[in-house]
Amino acid sequence: PGDAVTEMLERIEKDNVKFLRLQFTDLLGMPKNVAIPVSQAKKALTDGIGFDGSSIEGFVRIEESDMLLKPDLETYTVLPWRPRENAVARFICDVHKANGEPFEGDPRYVLRKAMEDAKKDGYTFNTGPELEFFLFKMIDGKPTTLFQDVGGYFDLAPTDLAENVRRDIVIALEAMGFEIEASHHEVAESQHEIDFKYSDALTTADRVVTFKFATKTLALMAGLHATFMAKPVYGINGSGMHVNCSLAKDGKNAFYDQGGKLQLSETAYYFIGGLVKHAKAITRVANPTVNSYKRLVPGYEAPCYISWSASNRSAQIRVPAPRGNSTRVEFRSPDPTCNPYLAFAAMLAAGMDGVRNKIAPPESTNKNIFHMTLAERQETGIETLPGNLYEANLALLADDVVCKALGKHIVDALTCIAEAEWDSFRTAVHPWEVERYLATY
Ligand code: ADP
Ligand code: MG
Ligand code: MG
Ligand code: MG
Ligand code: MG
Repeated sequence: PGDAVTEMLERIEKDNVKFLRLQFTDLLGMPKNVAIPVSQAKKALTDGIGFDGSSIEGFVRIEESDMLLKPDLETYTVLPWRPRENAVARFICDVHKANGEPFEGDPRYVLRKAMEDAKKDGYTFNTGPELEFFLFKMIDGKPTTLFQDVGGYFDLAPTDLAENVRRDIVIALEAMGFEIEASHHEVAESQHEIDFKYSDALTTADRVVTFKFATKTLALMAGLHATFMAKPVYGINGSGMHVNCSLAKDGKNAFYDQGGKLQLSETAYYFIGGLVKHAKAITRVANPTVNSYKRLVPGYEAPCYISWSASNRSAQIRVPAPRGNSTRVEFRSPDPTCNPYLAFAAMLAAGMDGVRNKIAPPESTNKNIFHMTLAERQETGIETLPGNLYEANLALLADDVVCKALGKHIVDALTCIAEAEWDSFRTAVHPWEVERYLATY
């Protein structure tokens, strides 16, 4: 490890880095960082850097607030939008307690643990997310929900400011080591999607956080507001974060079986079985805001019924057509407000429960579920996802497998947050109510 630190210090010097940001995420998936001058780099890379965890959402109480950030050397990257001279670089860190043990409230640790657990059976969890977001106008320095453009799916709008911003984002992400597979205009006005290549879930979760942060920064530099809010505008599509998942074993895609039904392996079917069984509990972390549930309604390409299909996009879980190394299961309910570490950990724990306990998935649904009646859905055993954050949290509390994967510290903190958020929303008087009732009564 000494050598790795020396090499890293040389690289930092060669890159002209003057400031280091030591980054981690809170329970909400918000990136936090402690900035240190490069003179502290050696200390940070060998011993870690202390910080006060008490003011971080969902972390710790004042009495036990001394925490340590330990940079993960693999995550070093220069921030490409900062000047090259006196450059700024960042590391993503693991959070440790003062006694040196990993901190069980660190979302990255939770995912690491879930990955290590799957490794016991030889599996690596790979994820490839599709992040959607809106670019809105800013007025007087404040974000609005005014559209920047009126394009649609895959539209080309050559004179469009948004097109330039999207290109800047792609260039910056590539400079940070992302392999961008595609970027395109999405279905709604001002809505965009950028896809990057899948990797192991920990690397991918780090990238999701970086992606959101880079996108917001570059949009702001162009005078726009990028938002990952799940449903910013009523009546049009919200933003999702489909998660393409697969397990690899011995360097091979464990979901692919040339001789299997639909060329899928038993492992793939059981993984789907686990996702279906634990879908409600996963929702608490995959759709963590009050607003998330405004996206999970019929009619906008987002799922609201628990189901899977090899063909149709109204299902929550879809198996896209590619096979071989690209064999994957697309989990379509998450939205980009999720903390990716927690969402991936919950999904993996659910899938592994399926694989280990041979949980067969229900029949696949090849009809458009939005066109089915309640009676038809009941007949085929298709259940509905939780309708709001409060219900989703109850579903989490009722699910031992997902609770165990997240750990007590995090489940307790998530419960506090859900109850407070839900109470605040539930007791507020919304513009809809005033519009509906004020004049009539
Ligand atoms: P869609 O057809 O749903 O729009 P995209 O083409 O936008 O899908 O995104 C597909 C995602 O799936 C990409 O991030 C890609 O890297 C990822 N992917 C491909 N193969 C795998 C795999 N074996 N495991 C996990 N993710 C994968
Ligand atoms: Mg896509
Ligand atoms: Mg595509
Ligand atoms: Mg999309
Ligand atoms: Mg998709």
